[in-house]
Amino acid sequence: MHYLLISFWSMFSFFTAGESFKDYPVYQGNDLGLTYTPQASEFKLWSPPAEKARLRLYAKGLGGKALKTLNLKKQDGVWYGRVKGDQVGKYYAFQVQIKGQWLAEVPDPYTKAVGANGKRGQILDLKKTNPVAWESDKRPTLKSATDIIIYELHIRDLSTHPTSGISNKGKFLGLTEEKTKSPEGLTTGLDHLKELGITHVHLLPVYDYSSIDETKLEENKFNWGYDPQNYNALEGSYSTNPEDGAVRIREFKQVVQALHSKGIRVIMDVVYNHTGVTEGSNFNQLVPGYYYRQNDKGGFSDASACGNETASERPMMRKFMVESVLHWAKEYHIDGFRFDLMGIHDIETMNAISKAVREVDPSIFLYGEGWTAGGSPLPDEQRGLKANVSKMDRVAVFSDDIRDAIRGHVFTHTDKGFVSGAPGLKESVKFGVVASTYHPEVKYPEVKYYSKTPYAKEPWQVISYASCHDNHTLWDRLAVNNPLLLDEERLKMYRLSLLMVLTAQGVTFLHAGTEMAVTKGGAENSYNLADAVNQLNWTRKHQYKDLFNFTRDLIYLRKSHPAFRMTSSAQIREHLEFLPHEDENVTGFLLKNHANNDPWQTIAVVYNGSGKVQTMPIPRSEWKIVCDGEKMQLNNPVSYRNSGILVPPYSGIVMYTDGLGKVNWVEDK
Ligand code: CA
Repeated sequence: MHYLLISFWSMFSFFTAGESFKDYPVYQGNDLGLTYTPQASEFKLWSPPAEKARLRLYAKGLGGKALKTLNLKKQDGVWYGRVKGDQVGKYYAFQVQIKGQWLAEVPDPYTKAVGANGKRGQILDLKKTNPVAWESDKRPTLKSATDIIIYELHIRDLSTHPTSGISNKGKFLGLTEEKTKSPEGLTTGLDHLKELGITHVHLLPVYDYSSIDETKLEENKFNWGYDPQNYNALEGSYSTNPEDGAVRIREFKQVVQALHSKGIRVIMDVVYNHTGVTEGSNFNQLVPGYYYRQNDKGGFSDASACGNETASERPMMRKFMVESVLHWAKEYHIDGFRFDLMGIHDIETMNAISKAVREVDPSIFLYGEGWTAGGSPLPDEQRGLKANVSKMDRVAVFSDDIRDAIRGHVFTHTDKGFVSGAPGLKESVKFGVVASTYHPEVKYPEVKYYSKTPYAKEPWQVISYASCHDNHTLWDRLAVNNPLLLDEERLKMYRLSLLMVLTAQGVTFLHAGTEMAVTKGGAENSYNLADAVNQLNWTRKHQYKDLFNFTRDLIYLRKSHPAFRMTSSAQIREHLEFLPHEDENVTGFLLKNHANNDPWQTIAVVYNGSGKVQTMPIPRSEWKIVCDGEKMQLNNPVSYRNSGILVPPYSGIVMYTDGLGKVNWVEDK
């Protein structure tokens, strides 16, 4: 990622000589970039500081001489050009001159189709990229955001392992294949996602990023893709032909269509907070400095720890983000967006995005990382931080509180979590159970880390999870912080972690492969490591068959019982009562009185993160145990009648009763 096309000094000299970004006129239309018709292609490029601007047309996405060079005309900061006739299939790039110097040829930020390596835009009729029956593609039904169970997946990871049985390995099309099987005869790929029962697939970056050379796909390089190059175009390495920009568009629409046909919604991971390349980015080659925040020395500030951070508070960056999200929501029917390092974006921009997507479809789900990777010049109170989630309009944040309570502090590898018997985490777990909302039985001063106050007003503002693509997988982490652990105990802690995530209020989030104890062999930041480290090994679905069944049944339990998916914090306060226990690693709760119209009268959930058998006092009733700590038994629950329940070490229990009226603790006769 070293693309120092022009020197640092010369870049900043463009705008430090008296010109202010505030003087740049703001364009009000929504047609920047290419507008195609068979009669003509029209181009609009926003670049107030440019003295000259030109457009070049090419026959190919890379190399070759320009077919045509068009000098553009300027009005109010926007450069205009029109090429008559049907130009479909041709490639284009812009170039601007500032202070007598021509900068690099690049696509404009709004470019929706690109050739190999994203160096040139491509003129396409987007309607002609639609797969068969695209017009009848519909978003699957979603009643409430708390119904969402997200599965976070990298395109390559699903299919690259030889055991996937998938033909289009590492490709978009790998996600569209049906009836694929592992060598042991178990379903893989798309059918596996359907079998597991998750509601949303969240794809790691699929927009065009720079780290993979799309002309050398035989090298089979892997990258997470957090190095954005063209925000409105797709990554070429996932397509079967990166040279033709139409192919990746059609194939990705097929992915959306295939998932929708299985009742699964699609979420994109969007990384507007920084660009992969800094000085040489498309943004900087067209309007130097404007799209980025500057530090007090006039250089790039770096809250992303990737060399730069964008400036969402500037009107044309805000506008770009809003229109970019709208493009994906409308053209590709995307159902949700996960904002990388959302704490870098300003709240006003997040709310503008939220307002705009609600007009497309009110059920589109927005969430993000409510933190940054470094300091930012924008004041904290204006940023999309976790603590500010309630200032944002229907935007959720990840709960690192429940994640770290379950497994231990993410960056302190020896740190154990609640599930491994670490003390002092009970209130953090309870805080996670109520999705970081206010509940009178949570002792907020005892909640770990930053969250001494209930930052969420409502449960749909919080994502409950125990692991994601970053850091150790949950399976690896449990071995890292418990080096002498027996496999059997590790599985118990693992199941307890999943039980906690899937019985907590809020929105559920699972890292791909969680259901088969996914491992990265102890690797953490595996963003550019080989497929062998990152991919799903489908043999593990057979090897951890019981764990797969446990996870699938837990998902089914959550989906069939609205008590786990309450829609408001008032409802949680009314129906959720914590079960007191003196042990630091034992807690539990009742979901009372048909919570959220649940068919079950009262549900009891107990977590035992200690290494001992524990007794949890419960109201006396005719209970039915649906999870005994080791397995789910939804169809043949075991009957139980007592005033206390024994919970095995490192395990959780779920049971229900239809026999309690108003729950009370009076013993029966
Ligand atoms: Ca690329």
